Amino acid sequence: MTPLSSTDRTRLGRYPERSSSDRAVLYEILDDGMICHLGVIMNGSPRVLPTGYGRLDDTLYIHGSTGASSLMSGPSQDICVTVTHLDGIVVARSLFHHSINYRSAVIYGTPRLVTETDEKLAGLRAITEQLAPGQWDVARQPTRKELAAAAVLALPMDEASVKVRQGPPGDDDEDYELDIWAGVVPVHQAFGTPTPDPVLRTGIPVPGHIAQRVTS
Ligand SMILES: Cc1cc2nc3c(=O)[nH]c(=O)nc-3n(C[C@H](O)[C@H](O)[C@H](O)COP(=O)(O)OP(=O)(O)OC[C@H]3O[C@@H](n4cnc5c(N)ncnc54)[C@H](O)[C@@H]3O)c2cc1C
Repeated sequence: MTPLSSTDRTRLGRYPERSSSDRAVLYEILDDGMICHLGVIMNGSPRVLPTGYGRLDDTLYIHGSTGASSLMSGPSQDICVTVTHLDGIVVARSLFHHSINYRSAVIYGTPRLVTETDEKLAGLRAITEQLAPGQWDVARQPTRKELAAAAVLALPMDEASVKVRQGPPGDDDEDYELDIWAGVVPVHQAFGTPTPDPVLRTGIPVPGHIAQRVTS
């Protein structure tokens, strides 16, 4: 895997030691996430919106309605996509050193509108599987009309940065003598028990690929 680029906009200014040029770290952050934030410039002002995504090798796919203006403005401009994981609240002895444990990724580039059907289906599959692994093969497949109503953008991951903070607080030397609790409150994402659609036909059990995601 090629290392991540170091460009004027991906080079970390603050805490550069928290960055990584390892592309595998970028992919791990993306594969662990479920939503991204898509940043575009619209009519001269920034707009950042949450949306789903999927990854296939070194391409990130995002999709939406062909009527979604933020998405449809994408192919003609440079965009920015971020994915963030909140891993812990870092509680320090001093207010100044309170912090957050996190893994985050920032990707820049000009996306391409996917027009070829096979790639469009592969992109949509990646986006679906990111949220509900195993679901693409069991749900009804998209019709030609549904496919036409969905726009899929492909963003190459040529220019990206990652930043990771883990570990305990970093207090000032003299503050370690204080009788104030310090440490990390871990934050985890959990999947609850699936709730059936109230109008679900009787006798249809929760499929294994969904049941197995419940966090014990
Ligand atoms: C959940 C969360 C909460 C945070 N809260 C705070 C906070 O309250 N205060 C604070 O100062 N910082 C916070 N950060 C860190 C913040 O994201 C920036 O890293 C930091 O503010 C440095 O900003 P800067 O403008 O100096 O960027 P620079 O370091 O100058 O950014 C240069 C380039 O480095 C890359 N980069 C910067 N930050 C990140 C990142 N987090 N992930 C991936 N690439 C990055 C980008 O490509 C960016 O263009 C938080 C991060 C996360 C994930």
